[in-house]
Amino acid sequence: MRGTVLYGPGGVCFEEREDPRIVHPTDAVIRTVVTCVCGSDLWAYRGTDPVAQPTPMGHEYVGIVEEVGAEVTKVKPGQFVIGSFATSDNTCPNCLAGYQSSCVHREFMSTCQAEYVRIPNAHGTLVATDDLPAEEVLPSLVTLSDVMGTGWYAAKAAEVKPGSTAVVVGDGAVGLCGVIAAKELGAERIIAMSRHESRQKLAVEFGATDIVTERGEEGIARIKDLTNGVGADSVLECVGTAQSMRQALHATRPGGNVGFVGVPHDVAVDGQELFFSHVGLRGGPAPVRGYLPDLIDRVLTGRINPGKVFDLTLPLDQVAEGYKAMDERRAIKTLLIP
Ligand SMILES: [Zn+2]
Repeated sequence: MRGTVLYGPGGVCFEEREDPRIVHPTDAVIRTVVTCVCGSDLWAYRGTDPVAQPTPMGHEYVGIVEEVGAEVTKVKPGQFVIGSFATSDNTCPNCLAGYQSSCVHREFMSTCQAEYVRIPNAHGTLVATDDLPAEEVLPSLVTLSDVMGTGWYAAKAAEVKPGSTAVVVGDGAVGLCGVIAAKELGAERIIAMSRHESRQKLAVEFGATDIVTERGEEGIARIKDLTNGVGADSVLECVGTAQSMRQALHATRPGGNVGFVGVPHDVAVDGQELFFSHVGLRGGPAPVRGYLPDLIDRVLTGRINPGKVFDLTLPLDQVAEGYKAMDERRAIKTLLIP
């Protein structure tokens, strides 16, 4: 089979690789139906997170089960399945507490931009749909394996409640999905921070009521103007830079919460500043697995359409162009079809 391998900054190859097979009795092998490029893949692509050796890429997937190990009984060959970017047994104490992405058996997926994929902990990780989904919902379903689930967690972690005001920092796919989540969880006012016209439009379509184009201190001042001078109830931090975290903390009112889901790069939080801010902070890799049944239902009933974040669709063998387009910000997110 063929799969995507990153050799170094900008060096994406689609090449012949060993066929995945069942290694542990808890594994499954799936045939990829659609996969995609994540904004977080760009950290490695740009060399910010250097790769030490040729590294298989991709952690978002939906597929058809080809083969299962002896201990996998919840899914069977032929079924259409969706799973999280972080695998989980769904039975350990962390899983039962709703933090499947901290499962004691967790393995992060990193081989999904390929024709076939081995899924560890398949029994707890994969969720099968009743029927083979229609082609038009595939883009939305694949977002559930990461970006939509992560946007959902950002809104949950920021404790978005009916009638509240939410700010979304970041207009990438996760931020845009965060807008959907904030709307679904009942936020009355959703302020999206974005400087790109096409992304602003999508944010509004997803439920944003206000757009703030300013960044840094000006952005914080603008949020305060819009929130009686105190800041928002909930802020979803979907970038992961020092500037975006600072913006999020200072745009939150005392007693409010920040949900941070952008993988932090050089982010430092000052203890005194945090202490006196009265702001709650919760983040980390999203426990996507726990949200899958609910989010699959919302997609299949047409309530949400997060697949709109894809503005570029390519055959999987043109994956290198998918990275390039996102790196150059010509595309928000690339859908890949084997
Ligand atoms: Zn677990």
